[in-house]
This record gives sequence, structure tokens and C-alpha cells, in this order.
Amino acid sequence: MNKVLAELITIGDEILYGQTLDTNAHWMSGQLDAIGVKVIRRTTCGDVETEILQAFAEAEQRADIILITGGLGPTNDDLTKPCLAKYFDCDIVMNDQALIELEAYMSGRGRELNKLTRLQATLPEKCEMVSNERGTACGMWFDSNKKVFVSMPGVPHEMRHMITHKVLPKIQRTFSLPIIYHKIVRLAGIGESWLAEKIETWENALPKNIRLAYLPTFGDLKLRFTAIGENREDIKSQIDGQIELLLPLIQEYVYGYGDDTLEMVIGQLLRERNQKMALAESCTGGFVSHRITTVPGSSDYFNGSVVPYQNEMKIAQLGVKQETLETHGAVSEATVSEMADRVRENFKADFGLATSGIAGPGGGTIEKPVGTIWIACSQKDKVTTRKLSLTNDRVVNIQITSVALLTMLYQRLVQND
Ligand code: AMP
Ligand code: MG
Repeated sequence: MNKVLAELITIGDEILYGQTLDTNAHWMSGQLDAIGVKVIRRTTCGDVETEILQAFAEAEQRADIILITGGLGPTNDDLTKPCLAKYFDCDIVMNDQALIELEAYMSGRGRELNKLTRLQATLPEKCEMVSNERGTACGMWFDSNKKVFVSMPGVPHEMRHMITHKVLPKIQRTFSLPIIYHKIVRLAGIGESWLAEKIETWENALPKNIRLAYLPTFGDLKLRFTAIGENREDIKSQIDGQIELLLPLIQEYVYGYGDDTLEMVIGQLLRERNQKMALAESCTGGFVSHRITTVPGSSDYFNGSVVPYQNEMKIAQLGVKQETLETHGAVSEATVSEMADRVRENFKADFGLATSGIAGPGGGTIEKPVGTIWIACSQKDKVTTRKLSLTNDRVVNIQITSVALLTMLYQRLVQND
């Protein structure tokens, strides 16, 4: 089955200046993927006629569908409509239906049309009007040599409503679309290049129609499988078959699929076993507790946490020995182990977890540079510890530490099977 290809063109100086995040392109990509249209390129150009015309011409060479947002306001800075008229070599004229809808929209809000707003009902002669139920700038649908151009407003909620209710259904009627199927396997505790090495032989033998992507974020890794075809069940079972071959090679790192998160999976395991956890977070300042408590029903297995940021609090709130802190320092294996043991006991939990480190950007020493972070997981007869050597970025360090600590707990839960 032939692929149907799309390009997205987002127009507006504000996007190029870095003042507006291009959420339109991001959102449209997801919508098109879901109906089987393959997005092959996204372009952003400013409100400049030559740039816009060039973007149209280039996109038309490559894609079947060109979706455009932005530049539809009635003011002089918005150029998309005159550019489309020029590109399709036609005049801009009053569109009766657009005027009726515009008048209804305005009167529904108790507002009169002024000269500029009235211009919103003028459209290039060669387009089909696409109603905008959320605003004054209607969309435009052009058919050109079996290609489709659709121009929509830049305002995200207007564009989204128009795409969902008008544009996607029309694309589905116009094109015969395949299925684009994705499946995500989620792994923790392994970096992408180590993983790639481990599964190289399997990956080289993957059927050519299945695309594999490694998507890492802060120590959490997604392995995405994608295939395009006519029958959803066929592609799904082909991909599931490949995952079955892969799993024996990487089982210890796989914690879930799709939208599963470490905190969700940990929660399920603790609940099934009727076990509890508690946290003592120094350098992560409660971030791991936050992640755990974003899962509904976490009170079933999360007994609570402390954030003993100062040494005195590590002693007063947890019962860490002064001697340990004096001999080894707050950022040490000995301290983090004691923190994990004490929080487990104090909170009457099965698992006590702790973090202590130098999140940065200041506070480092030669022996303990910024990014030195100790984590620990304590069970009744056993404490596991790990030293992380991270970067200078405080927020990133906190995020990576949270993944490492949750991975440690997950691995302990799985190993206890
Ligand atoms: P326009 O249709 O060019 O008048 O755009 C109207 C408003 O929509 C702009 O001021 C931006 O705030 C917003 N906007 C335009 N394009 C985008 C985009 N690609 N992503 C997110 N917001 C946008
Ligand atoms: Mg604009």
C-alpha cells in the first residue's frame, strides 16, 4: 500500500524569534500519525512572502498533503492568504458562506464587524472554505495536481478544532490511508549504546518494514517499533513476534510497555506483594516522592518520606549517627546507607530508599565533584548502594537520580521474585 506523505509549514516571525513554541507542528504530527499519514518534514518560516512561497513549492515537490498554520490575521503582518492566492494564481474575493459564518460568529458574541474583520471573509477564489467555529479566520483547502494544501489559523485551539472536525475527516475521505503502528518497550538501567551492542544480531535480522528507534531520556530508555501496513492486527503480531525474540536478551532491563512509568510499575509490584516503601531524600528534595505520589492509589504502598537537607536533620529526623557524618561526610555510601536503613525502620516499610549528593552547580570539591550522588535501597537484610557521577546541571541531576533510584527499587523487587 502506498504511503501518504505530509509536510507541515508553520508560519510566524514569533516562532523564529523563539517567543512562541511551535506546539502546532507537534500536535498536528501526532494527529496525522494516528490516521496513517506519514509526516516527512516540518518547516517554519517567518512572515516573509519569498520564504513562504518557497516553502510551498518545496513541500509540494515531496508531499501529498501540506498543512499550513499561521499568518491568517487581517493585519498587514499576516501574509499567508495573499501568498496562497499568488501561489495558486487567483484573486482574493468575498466568500459568501464565509461572510455568513463570520457575521453569525460575531453577532453571537455581541460584536459588530469592522472593515478589517470583514476582510476575514475574503478568500482566494480557488480554495474551498473550511469553517472556523472558534474564531474569525476561516481555513482554506486547495486541491492542486492531486496534492492538497490546507491553511489554518495559528491560534492553537482554533486550529485543533478545525483539524479534528473538518480537516482530518476530509483527508480520510480523500486518501486511502494505511495504518501506522507503533509499539514502545520501556527499559531502565542500561544506556542506549550498551543496549544496541547487546541486541545487534537481533536488530540486523529485523524485517526491513519494521523501523526501530532508541529514545533515551535521563536514564530511562524507550525502544520504539514502527511499521506501516494495511492490517493493524498483522503488523501488531509481526512486531510482537520480534519483541518475543528480543525479550530473552534484555529481560532484566524491561519494566514496561507504552505509557508505563517506573513509578506505576513499582506501585503495582508493591501492591501485589502488600509491601511498603519510604524515602529519605536529601539532594532530590522530594522529587522521587512526588513521582511516586503522582500514581493514584500510592497510599496503598507509600508510607511517606523525609527531606533531611541539613546534617542536623539527618541526625534529628532520621537518626543518622553523627560519627558517620563526621567520618564519611553527608555525601557518602555510609551516610546514604544509614539514611535508607533508618527511614525504612522509622516508617515501618519493607523498602527504605535514600539520596544524598551534590546536585550543583556549586558545592563540589576535588574528591566529591558536583554531580557526585549516592543512592541506596535498604531491605531488612540487605542494602544496595550506587554512586552516580553526573553533570553540572542541577535539575537534570535530580531527574537522573530519580530514575536511578526507582530503577534500583524496581530491580530489587524483580530480583526478590
Ligand atoms: P496568526 O494566525 O499568525 O495570527 O497567529 C496567531 C497566534 O497563534 C500567534 O500570535 C501565536 O500566539 C499563535 N501561534 C501561531 N503559530 C503557532 C504555532 N505554530 N504554534 C503555537 N502557537 C502558534
Ligand atoms: Mg502571525
